[in-house]
Amino acid sequence: MSSSYQATAAWAQAADAADPLRAFRDEFLIPPHAGRDSAYFCGNSLGLQPRAVRAALAAELDDWAQLAVEAHFKGRSPWMHYHEYVRDHLAEVVGALPSEVVAMNSLGVNLHLMMVSFYRPTPARPAILMEAGAFPTDRYALESQIRFHGFDPATALVELEADEPNGTLSMAAIERVLAEHGSRIALVLLPGVQYRSGQAFDLKAITELGHRHGCIVGFDLAHAVGNLPIQLHDSGADFAIWCSYKYLNAGPGAVGGAFVHARHARATLPRLAGWWGHDKATRFQMGPEFVPTPGADGWQLSNPPILALAPLRVSLEIFHRAGMARLREKSEQLTGYLEWLVHTQLADVLEVLTPADPARRGAQLSIRVRGGRERGRALFDYLTEHGVVGDWREPDVIRISPAPLYNRHADCLAFAQAVQAWRDANG
Ligand SMILES: *Cc1c(COP(=O)(O)O)cnc(C)c1O
Repeated sequence: MSSSYQATAAWAQAADAADPLRAFRDEFLIPPHAGRDSAYFCGNSLGLQPRAVRAALAAELDDWAQLAVEAHFKGRSPWMHYHEYVRDHLAEVVGALPSEVVAMNSLGVNLHLMMVSFYRPTPARPAILMEAGAFPTDRYALESQIRFHGFDPATALVELEADEPNGTLSMAAIERVLAEHGSRIALVLLPGVQYRSGQAFDLKAITELGHRHGCIVGFDLAHAVGNLPIQLHDSGADFAIWCSYKYLNAGPGAVGGAFVHARHARATLPRLAGWWGHDKATRFQMGPEFVPTPGADGWQLSNPPILALAPLRVSLEIFHRAGMARLREKSEQLTGYLEWLVHTQLADVLEVLTPADPARRGAQLSIRVRGGRERGRALFDYLTEHGVVGDWREPDVIRISPAPLYNRHADCLAFAQAVQAWRDANG
């Protein structure tokens, strides 16, 4: 496809007109800039609002107003079962069985809840393997769990250093660290897509490797869910967690998610329990003994936040109609175009850090601005002022993530033209 890319408005418009998913853009509210749609590339941080969210929220507010407590049973979408309404589509997006996923809490909370069950350190095997430079929550959570169990992060937290030139991590590096430390590692926790570099990992290969060394394997899918197709069940991973406000477009602070592999569905793992995780059939007998619902539902603590689940439900319904396979195809095309524009038009200003192999990345390109932090920041501010929305990572990286549900080739071209205009004005 790359040989046919062109850096002209006519070509970009024709490519957008031929896009079978083009109508989905109209289902989103695109933030305006100077009377036009901005070129919004920040779906890796906060996805855009689906138009249908407002009516979905209004419906729940109306049911609350009209029915109050009765809406648990008599609402248009009875609240009693609300978390189940997102289950099937969520399972589709992450490649899991419906019973393996649950929408609940937020990412950080779910990470801790999963670790209560899946991080069971012993003196012989106390350690956790993670990546160096992980998102802060992940490091804080892991370190605090290690301390909570009475171990010392100085020895029990093994951080895997990036070994490739642009700050990415090879499979060989993961193999080496497990060959050296595997027998004392209780848990391997790695990302699906790395938030800074945009590198995608092979969940299945990592899981097989970790299991071969006797480790539990979990994934943080914050930047992977809704970004690329995932086959969580087939990967064999023990657990995974994610948030839903990035590529899943479920709104600021949206309800996150968790995956527990089916082989743990009925395991008597230690867990922190609450009434919503109790066996649904007997939950309202309000007995003193906790009997967990089989599957991921059994990790719920509280009755779900209806007003926060309503946008997730809307969003997942869009994903269901679009389909992850078609979204991925368009995503590779859009990100490929963006990369081509950088290589062919902007190479004197920008350098792509994200792996060039589409199998090793999602939508995001992490782009270094040549010439240092000041210059990078000046370009980033210029882009923001001209309606091109990416995000900034110190010291000199701009992350640009074309989301296939609402971004177009024309947006990628707008990015390139804005960088060119800045270069022409600033030398
Ligand atoms: C976005 C992100 C988080 C955010 O955690 P919250 O609990 O949702 O605030 C955590 N980890 C990673 C890797 C992320 O990308």
